[in-house]
Amino acid sequence: MDTKMKIRQYINITNSCNADCEFCCMWSSSKNSTYMSFAEFKKIIDSKENPFELQIEGGEPLLHKDMYSFLQYGVETGRCLKVIILTNGFLLDEHFNKLVEFGKSNNIPIIIKISVNYWLYQIDNEIVKKCKDFYELSKDNPNFDIILNVRLRHGDDWIVDLVEEAGLKEISNIFYLQSYGKYENEKGYSKPVIVQNIDDWFIYACDGTCFGKDLVARSDYEKRRIAE
Ligand code: SF4
Repeated sequence: MDTKMKIRQYINITNSCNADCEFCCMWSSSKNSTYMSFAEFKKIIDSKENPFELQIEGGEPLLHKDMYSFLQYGVETGRCLKVIILTNGFLLDEHFNKLVEFGKSNNIPIIIKISVNYWLYQIDNEIVKKCKDFYELSKDNPNFDIILNVRLRHGDDWIVDLVEEAGLKEISNIFYLQSYGKYENEKGYSKPVIVQNIDDWFIYACDGTCFGKDLVARSDYEKRRIAE
Protein backbone atom coordinates (compact mmCIF):
# COMPACT_ATOMS: atom_id res chain seq x y z
CA MET A 1 0.00 0.00 0.00
CA ASP A 2 1.21 3.51 -0.83
CA THR A 3 2.32 4.84 2.55
CA LYS A 4 1.10 8.35 1.67
CA MET A 5 -2.51 7.12 1.55
CA LYS A 6 -4.61 8.13 4.54
CA ILE A 7 -6.36 5.25 6.24
CA ARG A 8 -8.84 4.74 9.05
CA GLN A 9 -8.36 1.95 11.59
CA TYR A 10 -11.66 0.79 13.13
CA ILE A 11 -10.64 -1.09 16.26
CA ASN A 12 -13.09 -2.92 18.50
CA ILE A 13 -11.30 -2.80 21.87
CA THR A 14 -13.88 -4.76 23.89
CA ASN A 15 -16.97 -6.90 23.42
CA SER A 16 -18.30 -5.78 26.80
CA CYS A 17 -21.09 -3.21 26.86
CA ASN A 18 -23.27 -1.76 29.59
CA ALA A 19 -26.30 -1.35 27.29
CA ASP A 20 -27.19 -4.85 25.98
CA CYS A 21 -29.07 -3.53 22.96
CA GLU A 22 -31.28 -6.21 21.44
CA PHE A 23 -30.06 -5.36 17.92
CA CYS A 24 -26.32 -5.00 18.63
CA CYS A 25 -24.40 -5.55 15.40
CA MET A 26 -21.30 -6.62 17.35
CA TRP A 27 -22.96 -9.13 19.72
CA SER A 28 -21.68 -7.03 22.61
CA SER A 29 -23.21 -7.40 26.05
CA SER A 30 -22.62 -6.98 29.77
CA LYS A 31 -21.92 -10.75 29.94
CA ASN A 32 -18.86 -10.43 27.67
CA SER A 33 -15.45 -9.68 29.08
CA THR A 34 -12.85 -9.63 26.31
CA TYR A 35 -10.67 -6.54 26.42
CA MET A 36 -7.98 -6.03 23.77
CA SER A 37 -4.47 -6.16 25.21
CA PHE A 38 -2.06 -3.29 24.77
CA ALA A 39 0.28 -5.63 22.83
CA GLU A 40 -2.48 -6.45 20.37
CA PHE A 41 -3.40 -2.81 19.93
CA LYS A 42 0.24 -1.88 19.37
CA LYS A 43 0.57 -4.64 16.77
CA ILE A 44 -2.34 -3.17 14.80
CA ILE A 45 -0.98 0.37 14.94
CA ASP A 46 2.53 -0.78 13.98
CA SER A 47 1.26 -2.95 11.13
CA LYS A 48 0.86 -0.01 8.74
CA GLU A 49 3.03 3.01 8.10
CA ASN A 50 0.30 5.29 6.80
CA PRO A 51 -1.16 8.41 8.36
CA PHE A 52 -4.31 7.16 10.06
CA GLU A 53 -7.52 8.13 11.77
CA LEU A 54 -8.05 6.00 14.85
CA GLN A 55 -11.63 4.92 15.50
CA ILE A 56 -12.04 3.21 18.86
CA GLU A 57 -15.23 1.22 19.19
CA GLY A 58 -16.75 -1.80 20.89
CA GLY A 59 -18.76 -2.80 22.80
CA GLU A 60 -18.39 0.25 24.98
CA PRO A 61 -14.80 1.51 24.63
CA LEU A 62 -15.04 3.71 27.74
CA LEU A 63 -15.21 0.48 29.79
CA HIS A 64 -11.65 -0.40 28.77
CA LYS A 65 -9.26 0.56 31.56
CA ASP A 66 -6.37 0.99 29.08
CA MET A 67 -8.20 3.12 26.54
CA TYR A 68 -6.12 6.23 27.27
CA SER A 69 -2.86 4.25 26.91
CA PHE A 70 -4.12 3.08 23.53
CA LEU A 71 -4.89 6.64 22.46
CA GLN A 72 -1.53 7.85 23.74
CA TYR A 73 0.33 5.18 21.80
CA GLY A 74 -1.61 5.97 18.64
CA VAL A 75 -0.94 9.69 18.93
CA GLU A 76 2.75 9.25 19.76
CA THR A 77 3.36 7.53 16.42
CA GLY A 78 3.14 11.04 14.95
CA ARG A 79 0.95 9.58 12.18
CA CYS A 80 -2.41 9.82 13.91
CA LEU A 81 -4.59 12.46 12.24
CA LYS A 82 -7.66 12.23 14.41
CA VAL A 83 -9.22 10.16 17.20
CA ILE A 84 -12.83 9.01 16.89
CA ILE A 85 -14.60 7.32 19.81
CA LEU A 86 -17.88 5.51 19.31
CA THR A 87 -19.81 5.38 22.59
CA ASN A 88 -23.30 4.92 23.99
CA GLY A 89 -22.52 7.95 26.16
CA PHE A 90 -23.49 6.43 29.52
CA LEU A 91 -19.96 6.91 30.90
CA LEU A 92 -19.20 10.13 29.06
CA ASP A 93 -19.88 12.34 32.09
CA GLU A 94 -16.86 10.92 33.85
CA HIS A 95 -14.66 10.96 30.71
CA PHE A 96 -15.63 14.18 28.97
CA ASN A 97 -13.11 16.54 30.62
CA LYS A 98 -10.38 13.95 30.42
CA LEU A 99 -10.94 13.52 26.69
CA VAL A 100 -10.98 17.28 26.12
CA GLU A 101 -7.70 17.51 28.03
CA PHE A 102 -6.22 14.60 26.08
CA GLY A 103 -7.05 16.32 22.79
CA LYS A 104 -5.63 19.62 23.99
CA SER A 105 -2.40 18.29 25.47
CA ASN A 106 -1.71 16.12 22.42
CA ASN A 107 -2.96 18.70 19.92
CA ILE A 108 -5.11 16.05 18.25
CA PRO A 109 -8.68 16.45 16.93
CA ILE A 110 -11.19 14.27 18.76
CA ILE A 111 -14.65 13.29 17.58
CA ILE A 112 -17.06 11.64 19.99
CA LYS A 113 -19.82 9.78 18.19
CA ILE A 114 -22.69 9.15 20.61
CA SER A 115 -25.26 6.48 19.79
CA VAL A 116 -28.92 7.44 20.07
CA ASN A 117 -31.69 4.89 19.56
CA TYR A 118 -34.92 3.64 21.15
CA TRP A 119 -33.14 1.08 23.33
CA LEU A 120 -30.72 3.56 24.88
CA TYR A 121 -33.62 6.00 25.33
CA GLN A 122 -35.50 3.30 27.29
CA ILE A 123 -32.51 3.02 29.64
CA ASP A 124 -32.07 6.78 29.95
CA ASN A 125 -34.72 9.12 28.57
CA GLU A 126 -32.34 12.05 29.06
CA ILE A 127 -29.82 10.88 26.46
CA VAL A 128 -30.69 13.54 23.89
CA LYS A 129 -30.56 16.24 26.55
CA LYS A 130 -27.15 14.95 27.66
CA CYS A 131 -25.92 15.00 24.05
CA LYS A 132 -27.05 18.62 23.90
CA ASP A 133 -25.09 19.39 27.07
CA PHE A 134 -21.95 17.75 25.66
CA TYR A 135 -22.42 19.64 22.41
CA GLU A 136 -22.78 22.97 24.25
CA LEU A 137 -19.62 22.26 26.23
CA SER A 138 -17.61 21.50 23.10
CA LYS A 139 -19.02 23.68 20.34
CA ASP A 140 -16.40 26.43 20.76
CA ASN A 141 -13.54 23.95 20.74
CA PRO A 142 -12.36 23.60 17.11
CA ASN A 143 -10.58 20.34 17.92
CA PHE A 144 -13.40 18.54 19.72
CA ASP A 145 -16.63 17.51 18.01
CA ILE A 146 -19.76 15.72 19.11
CA ILE A 147 -21.71 13.74 16.51
CA LEU A 148 -24.91 11.79 17.15
CA ASN A 149 -25.17 8.37 15.52
CA VAL A 150 -28.94 8.04 15.41
CA ARG A 151 -30.27 4.56 14.51
CA LEU A 152 -33.96 4.00 13.86
CA ARG A 153 -36.44 1.17 13.65
CA HIS A 154 -39.27 1.79 11.21
CA GLY A 155 -41.66 4.10 13.04
CA ASP A 156 -39.00 5.73 15.21
CA ASP A 157 -39.62 9.19 13.74
CA TRP A 158 -40.15 10.42 17.32
CA ILE A 159 -36.39 10.08 17.86
CA VAL A 160 -35.72 12.33 14.87
CA ASP A 161 -38.21 14.82 16.37
CA LEU A 162 -36.36 14.74 19.71
CA VAL A 163 -33.03 15.36 18.00
CA GLU A 164 -34.50 18.16 15.93
CA GLU A 165 -36.18 19.80 18.94
CA ALA A 166 -32.82 19.74 20.72
CA GLY A 167 -31.24 21.54 17.75
CA LEU A 168 -28.90 18.63 17.10
CA LYS A 169 -30.01 17.46 13.67
CA GLU A 170 -27.09 19.15 11.92
CA ILE A 171 -24.60 17.14 13.94
CA SER A 172 -26.50 13.85 13.53
CA ASN A 173 -26.01 10.92 11.19
CA ILE A 174 -29.50 9.43 10.97
CA PHE A 175 -29.95 5.93 9.53
CA TYR A 176 -32.10 2.87 9.97
CA LEU A 177 -30.79 -0.11 11.90
CA GLN A 178 -28.98 -2.62 9.73
CA SER A 179 -29.58 -6.29 9.17
CA TYR A 180 -26.56 -7.93 10.76
CA GLY A 181 -25.39 -8.91 14.22
CA LYS A 182 -28.36 -9.59 16.49
CA TYR A 183 -30.59 -8.13 13.74
CA GLU A 184 -29.21 -10.54 11.12
CA ASN A 185 -32.65 -12.09 10.48
CA GLU A 186 -34.58 -8.81 10.37
CA LYS A 187 -35.69 -8.62 6.75
CA GLY A 188 -36.99 -5.05 6.87
CA TYR A 189 -33.50 -3.56 7.13
CA SER A 190 -30.53 -3.33 4.75
CA LYS A 191 -27.13 -4.92 5.00
CA PRO A 192 -24.41 -2.60 6.34
CA VAL A 193 -22.56 -0.07 4.24
CA ILE A 194 -19.86 2.33 5.40
CA VAL A 195 -19.79 5.59 3.50
CA GLN A 196 -16.14 6.56 3.30
CA ASN A 197 -14.33 9.85 3.00
CA ILE A 198 -10.82 8.41 3.31
CA ASP A 199 -8.43 6.55 0.97
CA ASP A 200 -8.61 3.15 2.67
CA TRP A 201 -9.84 1.54 5.90
CA PHE A 202 -9.62 -1.62 7.95
CA ILE A 203 -11.75 -3.17 10.68
CA TYR A 204 -10.57 -5.29 13.60
CA ALA A 205 -12.29 -7.63 16.06
CA CYS A 206 -11.64 -7.31 19.79
CA ASP A 207 -8.89 -9.96 19.68
CA GLY A 208 -7.08 -7.99 16.96
CA THR A 209 -8.15 -10.09 13.96
CA CYS A 210 -8.40 -7.92 10.85
CA PHE A 211 -11.43 -8.36 8.59
CA GLY A 212 -10.49 -5.87 5.90
CA LYS A 213 -13.76 -4.15 5.04
CA ASP A 214 -16.10 -7.02 5.81
CA LEU A 215 -18.39 -5.78 8.61
CA VAL A 216 -20.60 -8.88 8.46
CA ALA A 217 -17.64 -11.27 8.73
CA ARG A 218 -16.33 -9.37 11.77
CA SER A 219 -19.75 -9.47 13.38
CA ASP A 220 -20.11 -13.23 12.74
CA TYR A 221 -16.66 -13.76 14.20
CA GLU A 222 -17.54 -11.82 17.38
CA LYS A 223 -20.66 -14.01 17.67
CA ARG A 224 -18.64 -17.24 17.31
CA ARG A 225 -16.06 -16.07 19.85
CA ILE A 226 -18.63 -15.54 22.61
CA ALA A 227 -20.27 -18.91 21.81
CA GLU A 228 -16.96 -20.80 22.34
S1 SF4 B 1 -25.31 -1.39 19.93
FE1 SF4 B 1 -23.66 -0.21 20.89
S2 SF4 B 1 -24.51 0.44 22.86
FE2 SF4 B 1 -25.80 -1.22 22.12
S3 SF4 B 1 -24.95 -3.13 23.03
FE3 SF4 B 1 -23.99 -2.85 21.01
S4 SF4 B 1 -22.09 -1.75 21.41
FE4 SF4 B 1 -23.42 -1.49 23.21
